Amino acid sequence: MSENSQIFIAKTAIKAADLEHRRKINFNISKYNEKVPEGKQQFADVHLVRERAKNIKWKAIETLDQQLEEFELNFTKKGGKVIWAEDAAQAIEEIVSICKERNCRTLVKSKSMVTEEIHLNDALEKNGIESIETDLGEYIQQLDGEAPYHIVTPAMHKSKEDVARLFSQKLGTAPNLTPQELTLVARDVLRKKYTQAEVGVTGANFIISDIGGIAVTENEGNARLSCSFPKTHIVIVGIEKMIPSITDLGLFWPLLSTFGTGQKVTVYNTIVTGPKQANEVDGPEEMFVILLDNGRTNILQNPKTRESLYCIRCGACLNACPIYKNVGGHAYGATYSGPIGSVITPHLSGMENYKHLSYASSLCGNCTEVCAVKINLHELLLENRKESVEEGYTTLTEKMAWKMWKIASLKRGMMNMGSGNLKNKVVNGLFKGWKKHRSDLDFSPKTFNEMWKDMYNKK
Ligand code: SF4
Repeated sequence: MSENSQIFIAKTAIKAADLEHRRKINFNISKYNEKVPEGKQQFADVHLVRERAKNIKWKAIETLDQQLEEFELNFTKKGGKVIWAEDAAQAIEEIVSICKERNCRTLVKSKSMVTEEIHLNDALEKNGIESIETDLGEYIQQLDGEAPYHIVTPAMHKSKEDVARLFSQKLGTAPNLTPQELTLVARDVLRKKYTQAEVGVTGANFIISDIGGIAVTENEGNARLSCSFPKTHIVIVGIEKMIPSITDLGLFWPLLSTFGTGQKVTVYNTIVTGPKQANEVDGPEEMFVILLDNGRTNILQNPKTRESLYCIRCGACLNACPIYKNVGGHAYGATYSGPIGSVITPHLSGMENYKHLSYASSLCGNCTEVCAVKINLHELLLENRKESVEEGYTTLTEKMAWKMWKIASLKRGMMNMGSGNLKNKVVNGLFKGWKKHRSDLDFSPKTFNEMWKDMYNKK
């Protein structure tokens, strides 16, 4: 068992027993569950919308090489610069070098899971650059020294009282401020930072190849401020965020907001196609887009798991997952949690160390049911399990156990041997590791064969 797997089991055991944690997360998810059905009413046929979105993403991913080149061509025409980063280290090197060349001391950052993936804040801090999270949820998490808990709502596991306490400890405010007052405190701190920062970093929800632009969706306006106040704007985005045309946003914007938060459309949707032009008064003087691979082409080259690249990071599968709702986002020990995280993390960060996430599922299929772009998530989890076995990441005990199971299952005589009680004793004694986090295996007193015979004889 890998170290990550042991940590995962230890963390999940603690979280699953933490009823206060469960109360908070279920309270926040229940708000989401109230809003989403209302948002879905805007679509005459929500299944058709999801199907169309899946088809568009299929096209984008199947032609990703051409789409990326088309994006680069169109984006550079407007004066933007494209940087291709194979992995996290390359992306960090590029960002740090851009910052150093511009003598950057303060950098403002909008919410971006890719920057979490490459651990950008740690790298900037090591280089003496202050990086400020400007999304309120991310700002709360940064103050608390914690990674985001959820891909859409980073501080989902905190109550308003937790946040008031945190602000009081870190910023010296009164310990009983209301959410409105807390927001004003954060606003006051952050507004000053936009004007000080030399560089702004954002992610992108979509890369749009036909216009050479990126689209950012947010509710607070902080991403818009982060990309327009500082003189330099850096976008870092995973290559899979591609959509072929600006017209596709008519479908993806409402889809993302409805499945993400239940809104009909998110408050701020911004398309950026380059730095400030000669006839414009506002905007950054220069703009870079870093196209990050970091394991995505591993997924791309596998025709079965490729589908996971359609993900638009709406977070719906996390909110629907019985595992996520019990163990929460941090237990996964990975940037991307929940069902989609369990599907992609073994490919992004290594099957050997993360294959256990593919088993963090009841395979109920609820994730597939709610996915905005109809990714067959639970089947991909099974696919990961299969791959991990094929790649040899199985213990000898597990291999032996399944071998014995197979031999017994294929021989009727062996299946009929011994009573249910005897089988319980033998099997539960042998599979002690299996039983550690599960209830005992309980054999039926009679085998299927015996029950069938009884039924036949009664007739
Ligand atoms: S896998 Fe589907 S439901 Fe989950 S975050 Fe991605 S798009 Fe949303």
